[in-house]
Amino acid sequence: MSAPKRYTITAALPYTNGPIHIGHLAGVYVPADIYARYLRLTGNDVAYISGSDEHGAAIPMRAKKEGVSPQIIIDKYHGIIKKSFEDFGISFDNYSRTSSQIHHETASEFFTKMYNDGEFIEEVSAQLYDQEANQFLADRFVVGTCPKCGFEESYGDQCENCGTSHNATDLINPKSAITGNIPTVKETKHWFLPLDKHESFLREWILEGKKKDWKPNVYGQVKSWVDDGLRPRAVTRDLDWGIPVPVKDGEGKVLYVWFDAPIGYISSTKEWAAREGKKWEDYWKKDDTKMVHFIGKDNIVFHCIIFPAMLKAHGDYILPDNVPANEFLNLEGNKLSTSKNWAVWLHEYLEEFPNQQDVLRYALTANAPESKDNDFTWKDFQAKNNNELVAIFGNFINRVVVLTNKYYDGIVPTPNEFKEVDEDVLAAVKEFPNIIGKSIERYRFREASQELINLARLGNKYLADEEPWKVIKLDTERVQTIMYVALQISAALAVVSEPFLPFTSGKLKGILNVDDNLSWEDITAKDILLSKAHQINKGELLFSKIEDKTIEAQVEKLQATKLVNEQANKVVEAQKETIDFEDFTKLDIRIGTILEAEKVAKTKKLLKLKVDVGIDTRTIVSGIAESFSPEEVIGQQVSVLVNLAPRKIRGVESQGMILMADTTDGKLAFIEPTKKVKNGQQAS
Ligand SMILES: [Zn+2]
Repeated sequence: MSAPKRYTITAALPYTNGPIHIGHLAGVYVPADIYARYLRLTGNDVAYISGSDEHGAAIPMRAKKEGVSPQIIIDKYHGIIKKSFEDFGISFDNYSRTSSQIHHETASEFFTKMYNDGEFIEEVSAQLYDQEANQFLADRFVVGTCPKCGFEESYGDQCENCGTSHNATDLINPKSAITGNIPTVKETKHWFLPLDKHESFLREWILEGKKKDWKPNVYGQVKSWVDDGLRPRAVTRDLDWGIPVPVKDGEGKVLYVWFDAPIGYISSTKEWAAREGKKWEDYWKKDDTKMVHFIGKDNIVFHCIIFPAMLKAHGDYILPDNVPANEFLNLEGNKLSTSKNWAVWLHEYLEEFPNQQDVLRYALTANAPESKDNDFTWKDFQAKNNNELVAIFGNFINRVVVLTNKYYDGIVPTPNEFKEVDEDVLAAVKEFPNIIGKSIERYRFREASQELINLARLGNKYLADEEPWKVIKLDTERVQTIMYVALQISAALAVVSEPFLPFTSGKLKGILNVDDNLSWEDITAKDILLSKAHQINKGELLFSKIEDKTIEAQVEKLQATKLVNEQANKVVEAQKETIDFEDFTKLDIRIGTILEAEKVAKTKKLLKLKVDVGIDTRTIVSGIAESFSPEEVIGQQVSVLVNLAPRKIRGVESQGMILMADTTDGKLAFIEPTKKVKNGQQAS
């Protein structure tokens, strides 16, 4: 494509069934944001589009789990997600939601046009059905063994383990996710998109046309699917949550979420265009528009096969120029998981690291899973902050600003004759916008972020070599030149850092008093970025060191989560041997009340208790000190095995045993009556 006239940049629509975490940010939203910000800074016409995906079986499933209506779920998580994006400076031009009227209309029209053009196959087929729940089972309503990789928890439409997309009827040993029942089959009518019909177009467009420009991981996946042979895919569902199928015989059915969701990009663009006085068609139907879809690797099939086939079949639309899907980000060696709470949630991060959005943006970019799965560790996060942002970028700016204020009351000094080192450094600075821009245009954001640090490194080294704080005692004229040069580098950093570190860039522009009047091209084109006699402001620290204890607290928080998960997944022990009723009657279990409690000296686990068990008040040593303090158990009703033979524990005779159970968080719980019972009552 010759230089595009405009860009349509889409970022995957997050599902509103939970908040978003660092994996989402690293995989999709930060790279897309860097791309969009860079294109705007270089004077391009950009529509950066996203929104919440509020349909699909995941939403009613979540609603059922929380005991509320689906509407409450989507409103709650749409709000949380939208706020997280705003908080992290994700600069969408529009963030919409698929429950909006404009989206329902757009998706309905899209389906109707394809229907009228005969682009679907209508077919009555046997689908999985749950008799008890009175419902057809597709997508997330059914789990079973993946026919491709053997993963036992595959969903009906896609396997989370190997990424394969399939039909629910392909699953081996399917089970209803609602009741756990083995499904029966029942006939129902659906509309299918005949992907096999589009195979030759996909081969030509991607396998022949995109071999050089698309990332090998994306290209490879597409090739393997196409080579395996494409089959018709149902684009409707028997569900009551979603966009109603807008044709005769469509009652009680909705559009498959993966049919309507990508159309959400179009409706979000419409919403934006109406507000901004633009023509949305320009961004979706003109050949001189460059469209790029930012997604995670689990969405490749939908963005590279199904959605393009829909756009092609519809007929009026352009196709994406690129789909730079990322691989997955892991957290401390384990796969990120919403259901297992194995994540760093964005809203929690901001509570624990207030105003440090850029640190996370940077750490995730510098370690982005661009070509393979990558691991986020808190240690690495700390190192990226302390060794790069603080020690290089922050240190350089701090020195420049402090010295300029100290020597010249914040006024940019008049330079004297340049030495070779000054000219070299100024020439090197001019190269950076081009170097960084090229990496961004090739979707190599990691590499681009390292070049940004290299620019700061150049400045830092220049000051360390020239040592103005020493030279000031010998040659004040030379120091004027050094500080003048260092100030030019600072101004370049303020501009070039914007796509990566928008908050820092804003702060730095404020300190240097340059606002937004410097453009990306100016860094290369202009010799003077900050002219002599320009007044800068007082400094403030751009970054601050993150201490070991802060990082340790985060690691501990994750370890606690791991413990909870282990407890939750603990295998329940098998039933013991059968006993006679007589055996049971030998156990004398009574209700008692704890009257006194104290720690047993030199032990961690033991409490010495005085318990009124009705018959008498006796001493019992119990291993509950890690779950309860002595104060909090006084007055507690408990179940006591009173005829257990007394035994000495740490020198104290224990006359009975208090019954306890393990909780999911690794602590203990009392077995107590649900109503007040007289001490001495027997459990029978
Ligand atoms: Zn699989």
